[in-house]
Amino acid sequence: MNRYDADILSGIMQQQNFTPSSSIDHSNYIFVHTCSIRQHAEDRVLNRLTALSAIKKKRPGLKIILTGCLAQHKGQELLRHYPMLDLVCGPDEYRRMPDYLSRLDQSGFSPVHTQLNEDDYGDCLAYQNRSNGNAFISIMRGCNNFCSYCIVPYVRGRERSRDPQFILNEIRALDPERFKEITLLGQNVNSYRYQSTDFPDLLEMIQNETSIDRVRFMTSHPKDLSNKLIDSFARLSCLCRHIHLPFQSGSDRILLSMNRGYTRDYFINLVGRIRDRIPGVSLSTDVIVGYPGETEEDFLQTLDLLSRMECEDAYMYKYSPREGTRSADLPESLTEEDKVIRLNRLIAHQLRISHQSLLRRIGQTMEVMVERRSKKDLSEWIGRSRENSMVAFPSDDLVPFQLVKVVVTDVIGKTLKARPVDQ
Ligand code: SAH
Ligand code: SF4
Repeated sequence: MNRYDADILSGIMQQQNFTPSSSIDHSNYIFVHTCSIRQHAEDRVLNRLTALSAIKKKRPGLKIILTGCLAQHKGQELLRHYPMLDLVCGPDEYRRMPDYLSRLDQSGFSPVHTQLNEDDYGDCLAYQNRSNGNAFISIMRGCNNFCSYCIVPYVRGRERSRDPQFILNEIRALDPERFKEITLLGQNVNSYRYQSTDFPDLLEMIQNETSIDRVRFMTSHPKDLSNKLIDSFARLSCLCRHIHLPFQSGSDRILLSMNRGYTRDYFINLVGRIRDRIPGVSLSTDVIVGYPGETEEDFLQTLDLLSRMECEDAYMYKYSPREGTRSADLPESLTEEDKVIRLNRLIAHQLRISHQSLLRRIGQTMEVMVERRSKKDLSEWIGRSRENSMVAFPSDDLVPFQLVKVVVTDVIGKTLKARPVDQ
């Protein structure tokens, strides 16, 4: 999402004849695009700002602009610590960026702009600069869920869905030689609704009214994933059979405190329905360890739910309190070291599950979108399967973004080894 926001901003700037530069030395403006979802992301921004302070001392004419969620959340405070910042702009202020830049040297101009509004940037065309054949397309902004640990609703405002016609136009505007695949983005795509169009309707429109080959989406909140969506997979050939379905914790007690809106049993039942009705689907998830009050028993329930879900991939995070959220007021029951130990146990557990899940793919035929030659072995190509696995296979004459059918022969780490079907 954040990466896509940077592309929206880049699109807005380029429309006003600003040009992107690949080197700080040749730039007049530097945008530091931030995320505040976890402490780790915040720490990285602070390190970057310290480094930029030194550069600015040597080149006082350089303008440094802070954008994104951390700018929204702590803009004023950051300006006090980093006086070399020229402008701080929250996620709903990007349309005004060219105007703000033109006024930077005016007396009385305020350097902090963090007004949240209803703008969904619906009509904006993002500057699509991803080099792997996949384009991000935002279908909604904001979030209404207020999970107790999460800063997103506070820094990105209320949920609003983008007009489907703008979405279709953005997909049609993609260069078909460079983009065979899109990922539809939203904090909870399952609650997409524009007038009478819900998320499965939108997918149907994309299938019928564009020629994109492959469609992914993220993120799906388990509480809102409907049977209508599950049934879309049987009808819509563009849909990649992969669902990113974060469950966060396997313990009912913790799920309740997190305000996730579902129970462990509901989640197990949902995974069962998905696996029954979407044969060959691959699942991935997000998990948080060390949430306030998480006992060893709660943690074991999380390990157990991971085992039952049989994900091919999982993103696992150590809980970090975010100022202003509900859980930030709860006393932390674990030390940092305890959290790291649990995180490492979780990662080791998931590695085994991923490996077992990938082994089950041996012998299956998959469609891979070729990305590049393998760095380790130049006779091999690397691409991503519809199921979202990285696949390496030998071949001579391919071009990036070509779609190729392969048969899986082996698993090395997280990568599937394969051979083209006609060899
Ligand atoms: N909208 C998505 C997630 C967006 S944030 C959803 O609901 O699933 C991406 C992930 O960051 C979350 O799924 C969660 O696992 C993690 N995360 C969010 N806040 C966190 C916090 N305070 N500490 C640790 N991990 C967090
Ligand atoms: Fe955060 Fe929950 Fe919204 Fe996801 S659904 S963005 S975790 S509040």
